[in-house]
Amino acid sequence: MARQLMQECRDCGTYCLSLKCPKCGGVATAAAPMKWSPEDKRAHLRRQIEGVEKQGWSESLPTLSSSEEE
Ligand SMILES: [Zn+2]
Repeated sequence: MARQLMQECRDCGTYCLSLKCPKCGGVATAAAPMKWSPEDKRAHLRRQIEGVEKQGWSESLPTLSSSEEE
């Protein structure tokens, strides 16, 4: 996702769409935090399905060296 469109000037609090305040020329930053979380909330389910916590899982992973050495 791209950066948030709505920006707020750090100096005068004006809302705008650009990173530069149209009113005072100050720096504008995102007006509100992003609504999505960078953390994958279903990661524990995915790990369960793929059996990451079971023994031998790491051996099932593909490796680069096996094809490179041949
Ligand atoms: Zn401003």
